[in-house]
Amino acid sequence: MAQAFFGGVHPNDMKAATNEKAIEQLAPPAEVVIPMSMHFGAPCTPLVKAGDLVKVGQKIGEFRGLGAPIHASVSGKVKAVEPRPYSMGGNMMSVVIENDFQDTVSEEVQAPADPNALSVEEMIEIVKQAGIVGMGGATFPTHVKISGGIGKVDNVLINGAECEPYITGDHRTMLERPEEIIGGCKYLAKMFGVDKVTIGVEDNKQNGIDAMNKVIAEQNAPVEVVPLHCRYPQGGEKQLCQALTGKQVPPGGLPSNIGCAVFNINTTCAIYRAITTGMPVVNKIVTVSGSGVVEPKNLECPIGTPVSCLFDACGGLKDGTYKLVAGGPMMGMAQYTAEVPVGKGTGAMLAFCENEEQTVENPQCIRCGKCVAACPVHLEPLFMYQYAEKGMVDELNEAHIMDCMECGACAYACPARMHLTQMFKTGKQLVKDKAAADKAAAEAKKAAEEKKEA
Ligand code: SF4
Ligand code: SF4
Repeated sequence: MAQAFFGGVHPNDMKAATNEKAIEQLAPPAEVVIPMSMHFGAPCTPLVKAGDLVKVGQKIGEFRGLGAPIHASVSGKVKAVEPRPYSMGGNMMSVVIENDFQDTVSEEVQAPADPNALSVEEMIEIVKQAGIVGMGGATFPTHVKISGGIGKVDNVLINGAECEPYITGDHRTMLERPEEIIGGCKYLAKMFGVDKVTIGVEDNKQNGIDAMNKVIAEQNAPVEVVPLHCRYPQGGEKQLCQALTGKQVPPGGLPSNIGCAVFNINTTCAIYRAITTGMPVVNKIVTVSGSGVVEPKNLECPIGTPVSCLFDACGGLKDGTYKLVAGGPMMGMAQYTAEVPVGKGTGAMLAFCENEEQTVENPQCIRCGKCVAACPVHLEPLFMYQYAEKGMVDELNEAHIMDCMECGACAYACPARMHLTQMFKTGKQLVKDKAAADKAAAEAKKAAEEKKEA
């Protein structure tokens, strides 16, 4: 068993509701709403307008700078290009497509004649044009991670930890599509020029580990599966690096600083599909679960499917459902409507009933220190909370609040139920606002001095 990372917590995994249910294909929705930002970086520019006909896999959004293109997930007619509600908050420019239910595939989708004869540059270009991003939720453009890591990375790691409670999409993928995972690993090994790819999997997925090991043995693939003790947030990039290599990413650094690159299980499958079939990212596996869902399931659906369709396919929501969360319960975002669409980073949609509401009004810190012990990045959450509450920006910087990855482990461990993670989001915004204000003031001062001299 691999060594562990510092801190962390061990919440009840709540995975039993879906981990034995095969991935089901959702009945195609009548309409998809495809946001022009499903990646880390600036939003894409729409390439289509209302009235255009589109096909599956056709590029409908182009990126500039850091980003990834976006493709139509169904064939049909563009109904509108307009801002729509978005799971990351607010509204986002979106392409609304009326499904013609023909599933006509675009001529742009072309499988390479011989995928195994492709050069590294050609494979990276395919990954780029396929719009592949971190499918575990980080949504960082995969082509950038690969091209930026070549020559620096000697540990290619696949994140199969799936440590967030409730979520089982990666586990089901290991059981049902191990060939795609191992195939994607082989292409990653070729791109990075490494002898071996390592998949880290928490040991509550032993049958998933067995399924992948069987394929590795059959194909004699340069891939190793390493079981990990269950501990949240093992699936954090930096924690996985430490658990699998024993090396720690420095504060403010990236896995590439210690020679590592980390890819999610379903990102690896997307790489395999793009290189072998030419099909870009048009579908997503979503775990629909929680006490408010009548029949929890794992569903595969076109990108842009309204989450209300997912809940309908699971028998609907129970009376008394008070909260919807996009993502896991530790890091997910509460939603005010079920009309937000599934994006490339949507791994779960959870609904909770009122009897699970445990919020405490005006909680008081009892200085027990449990939050400090739980923090995987060695921060002191109890002090950061006070600084953020009082708007003490310099102290927040000194407490390294920008290293907080908002994992929620401290909030989970806190017996007083302090609203720690929420306060850290506010604190980080205060630090960013102050940095922007300082920069603007320095530029104004410089401009004034230059004017004076002239
Ligand atoms: S939310 Fe931030 S402060 Fe709390 S445990 Fe996670 S990294 Fe540490
Ligand atoms: S765990 Fe909660 S109560 Fe204990 S020191 Fe941290 S913030 Fe205070």
